[in-house]
Amino acid sequence: MTVGDTLYNVDMTIQILPDEVASQIAAGEVVERPASVVKELVENALDAGAGQITIRVAGAGQRLVEVQDDGCGISPEELQLSVTRHATSKLRTAEDLFRIATLGFRGEALASIGSVSQMSITSRQAGIETGARIHVVGGKVEGFQPAGAPQGTTVRVEELFFNVPARRKFLKKEITERRQIDELVMRYAMAFPAVRFQLTQEERLSLQTSGSGDRKEALAAIYGVEYARQMLEVYALEEELKITGFISPTTLTRSNRKEIHFAINGRPVQDATLTAAAVQAYHTLLMVGRYPVVMIYIEMPSDSVDVNVHPTKAEVRFRDRDRVFSAVQRSIRKALLAYTPVPELRSQQAWQAFAWEPAAERSGSNWGGLEALQSPEDGTDEQGESLEIHAFTARQVPILRLVGQVAAAYLIAEGPDGLYLIDQHAAHERVLYEKFIAQESGSIPSQALLEPAYVELPPGGARLLDEQLATLSELGFDVKSFGRNTYLVRAIPVLLSGMDPSAALRVVVEDFEEDETPLLSQRRERLIARVCKRAAVKAGHALSNAEQQALLQDLERCESPRTCPHGRPTMIHLSVDLLERQFGRRGAR
Ligand code: ADP
Ligand code: MG
Repeated sequence: MTVGDTLYNVDMTIQILPDEVASQIAAGEVVERPASVVKELVENALDAGAGQITIRVAGAGQRLVEVQDDGCGISPEELQLSVTRHATSKLRTAEDLFRIATLGFRGEALASIGSVSQMSITSRQAGIETGARIHVVGGKVEGFQPAGAPQGTTVRVEELFFNVPARRKFLKKEITERRQIDELVMRYAMAFPAVRFQLTQEERLSLQTSGSGDRKEALAAIYGVEYARQMLEVYALEEELKITGFISPTTLTRSNRKEIHFAINGRPVQDATLTAAAVQAYHTLLMVGRYPVVMIYIEMPSDSVDVNVHPTKAEVRFRDRDRVFSAVQRSIRKALLAYTPVPELRSQQAWQAFAWEPAAERSGSNWGGLEALQSPEDGTDEQGESLEIHAFTARQVPILRLVGQVAAAYLIAEGPDGLYLIDQHAAHERVLYEKFIAQESGSIPSQALLEPAYVELPPGGARLLDEQLATLSELGFDVKSFGRNTYLVRAIPVLLSGMDPSAALRVVVEDFEEDETPLLSQRRERLIARVCKRAAVKAGHALSNAEQQALLQDLERCESPRTCPHGRPTMIHLSVDLLERQFGRRGAR
């Protein structure tokens, strides 16, 4: 066979693609993953004026996504039309694009989803006695018949991508897909507080709102009452821009930007500019690497924002981007400053919180029992820049003599070779960590709580925690699932006695979000490191003399005393040599 043969064997005549093929290609843009199906179906239900939307997901959305609504319904005649491409009841002319009030308008979703799944739609319009059902397999209508149904529409999407194996391969781990769905429904439920949402994943209820119309109530249903109570309210009116919503106080932070949400004219959007504006508003008020929780509703004339940028409509284009950016930033900042007399962070704050307590009044050295002072998270900062920090050669530290505590954050100690400044938080982190690691897995002693604690997590977090429950119990936690997204903590490791159990659980969930697939082998260590970080005494906490001594001794006994489990230094060494040079006693610079 020659090369020419193969070339001419291919039929090169131009043909119009069969509709199913064209839809399948277009589907790639609209239906990327199971969460996109949920998104399109939920949007359709909202556009149909639903007061209640029930979503059921199985097999992380690959096996089943079912969305049921009590909206206006589709007439039997239109049912067939609804699954063909560019069939929409929401847009008539290109002009209409500039005054879109509905979430959908391209008429692509149902056709696209139908072309890559086995989909059935059952619907009955108000005032009509019987409804109808249509069944579509891989883009082909395989059945159409009258069907009894409650008013509204139920769309069942099964075996997503059954005919596009390549797409299946690109799906992420099931837990990731499930979380995407949780987060997505969460955003819509927040944006539409007057709609009653219910989401069940793998037969487990993961979100439910009342549909009362009260935003704060929706916030509480989604994030938990405790969380919602702490949120600050934003209200700003600037010409034709109205900005309202909720933001977290500076004490409530996350390790990523995932919980910064916006809705523009009721449409949930993810927009880099808006996110940046929110982060900017918190500038200098949060530690580097920490992010706020934000739910902001923006209302503006529909012609000053273009939502038709991307097929999934998650991105938007503003007519005046800068104005929106600064309005959002200003309104958040204003709310923050109004509610919190905010001290600037870092070392100053440690000084402000500085308070000596007579050593005698403080109890012994139950190191696990020290309570965390809220902020600042870490005593470490860049203050030591101008000092020459000596590279440590030896792994161990010499025997140290305690001099005292300074700034309620550092211990000063003397060694044979000079002065040591020890970061109390980092040092305690190291001590706790090594004590934990030294214990045999499974035999870590735990201490029952006098009063069991109930901890409520957002749905995504609950899912993550479920994955870690086994590891947690190895570490001495007694945690049980207690209904929807709520956990009952009955015991915590003895080493952490006195620590707020809900803080311990939250840190597990929060930190695993950043890197959701930690190697199994590392999971235990990482979990321990994170829990220790949260449990360790914070900067700003005055320590009794006995506590200072105990910390120093514990640190001396550590295998790697010079860094915290996250790799930051626990101590700065000022050698006698350095001191002499600094004081101009010798070889002055
Ligand atoms: P679009 O939403 O962009 O119009 P879709 O393909 O998502 O396109 O839906 C096509 C049409 O089917 C819609 O315009 C609407 O008339 C009808 N439809 C889809 N879902 C529903 C629903 N849940 N309730 C009522 N009508 C619906
Ligand atoms: Mg639609």
